[in-house]
Amino acid sequence: MLQTAPNTIQKQEILIRGIAAAPGIAQGPAFVFLQDGLDVPCYPVEEAALSGEIGRFEQALLATRKQISLLRDAVIERLGQGEAAIFDAHLLALEDPALIDETIQTVYKKKLNIEHCFHAVAEKYIAFFSKLEDEYFKERVSDIRDVAQRILRNMLGLSKCTLSAITDRRVIVAEDVTPSDTATLEIGHAIAIITDAGNRTSHAVIMSRSLRIPAVVGLISASHQIEHDDAVIVDGYEGLVIVNPTDETLASYERISRSRGDFQRKVLSEVELPSLTSDGVPFRLSANVNGVEDIESVHKYRAGGVGLFRTESIFLKNSQQVPDEETQFDYYRALIAAALPDRVIVRTLDIGGDKQHSALLAGTGSEPNPFMGFRAIRYCLERKPDFRTQLRAILRASAYGRVKIMFPMISSLDELLQAKDFLAQTAAELKAEGVAFDENIAVGSMIEIPSAAVSAELLADHCDFFSIGTNDLVQYMLAVDRGNERIAHLYEPCNPAVLQILRHVIQTAKRKKIDVSVCGELAGDSAFAPLLFALGADSLSMTPAVIPEMRYLLRRSNSTDLNELVSQVYSEHDPKKIYQILRRFANERLV
Ligand code: PEP
Ligand code: MG
Repeated sequence: MLQTAPNTIQKQEILIRGIAAAPGIAQGPAFVFLQDGLDVPCYPVEEAALSGEIGRFEQALLATRKQISLLRDAVIERLGQGEAAIFDAHLLALEDPALIDETIQTVYKKKLNIEHCFHAVAEKYIAFFSKLEDEYFKERVSDIRDVAQRILRNMLGLSKCTLSAITDRRVIVAEDVTPSDTATLEIGHAIAIITDAGNRTSHAVIMSRSLRIPAVVGLISASHQIEHDDAVIVDGYEGLVIVNPTDETLASYERISRSRGDFQRKVLSEVELPSLTSDGVPFRLSANVNGVEDIESVHKYRAGGVGLFRTESIFLKNSQQVPDEETQFDYYRALIAAALPDRVIVRTLDIGGDKQHSALLAGTGSEPNPFMGFRAIRYCLERKPDFRTQLRAILRASAYGRVKIMFPMISSLDELLQAKDFLAQTAAELKAEGVAFDENIAVGSMIEIPSAAVSAELLADHCDFFSIGTNDLVQYMLAVDRGNERIAHLYEPCNPAVLQILRHVIQTAKRKKIDVSVCGELAGDSAFAPLLFALGADSLSMTPAVIPEMRYLLRRSNSTDLNELVSQVYSEHDPKKIYQILRRFANERLV
């Protein structure tokens, strides 16, 4: 049921068009989430009013202390003591006497407002610690930055604007939402996510799809157009955001929402039916998961196992700490055991790119091109101790269920062989220690870099399976940053070059008799799933929530129509026409 937000003066209705990124319709009050880049004012203050500035500073320090303590208690309750350690560091940074004393002295010396003086002193400290080589001091930079932001927000009256402060059901409006921003978000409080940045494969979207909430991205400046508490409708089917809707718009969305709800119920009523096309050909729909909390949906939607477990998600819960072998082992074992009798494809750490982790990446400096930089397997092959810890934990967990291992961002045979070699060494160590693990564990490679796709033939001789990561493959093939809204229109999976390479990889895997799945967002897109299945993908791995709809769609497809779809798509060169062909195929069946 759509609800009208309390809104005494009817503001002007605004329609903002973006990219439809996660399906669904939601309506509720906006929560404008501001990241860095606060506008800190600077103005002179009369001598007599200076003590009032210090008073405001003390109030802000008290409020910040209270917020951090509350957050720490909530994290202890949800995730345990270890995950909350970061907040102890923040409390220490908050009490730093040097920072406080120097701020107060600056106010009296310069006779300027407290926000400006505090900001200037904090920036000076951040610059100083950033230059030091010592890892301990480098880590303090992010503590001071985080705490300084909180204090400033409190002084500027923006204290509500962090995701952990959401206490009721809200539409999250942000420039961008990174995986670490969402770590403290209380699930259930976000009813939709809309961002200025991003496109269909950015992580805000992947998260929305797994939370089953609508998302519209690439809105360019929505976070500046929408005000806190504005009533917002998010249409994740059409990529529309309506701010301050009129009663007429609300009523029309209520109708749309009802009919979508009816269709969704129909789809869900078929969840138990077998995964067979209408002429009896089996297909496999597996799940992309971020953690043990997703396994319930894997079973609920009858997924054929976990096709992608993004292990970096557990690292991203706390960017200040690296989980040790025991912590990782406990986590992987719990997830793998919960997934039984199904198998889990565990992908090794894919950190870097837009998945930044202060502790893991400490000392690496900022990169001009993070998506082309120190990411995933490149990180692991250089930081062998971290890689070894993770491989030991995964191998040990393999004794408790059915596991396959997969390496992300492989760009050459040499890289694949180095990773496999290191895995073999780690396995040999465990064996020598008498530790149990699956000695026949299957090992596969993500195919998400064009060089790997082109050399699929070579890689196939050394892999038990391939999994095609279309999110990155499209970005690297077309040189279009997957998170950059300015060029989102160029992120075109229907580009014939992309379609050729997808067919090449799938056909090569078939010829080499290894399993091939697709785990990028295209596998969970109703326009592309039939094509990928028709090309021969053994499994399509997607966010669990979309599995019922994909099963409904493929159960209404048959081999003749699917073969015809392939020949139509591959005889066309215009991406727009190709998309129309794919969309029509899906729409005719999704009724
Ligand atoms: C991909 O690139 O398609 C993929 C599944 O990996 P991620 O989205 O985690 O980069
Ligand atoms: Mg990828």
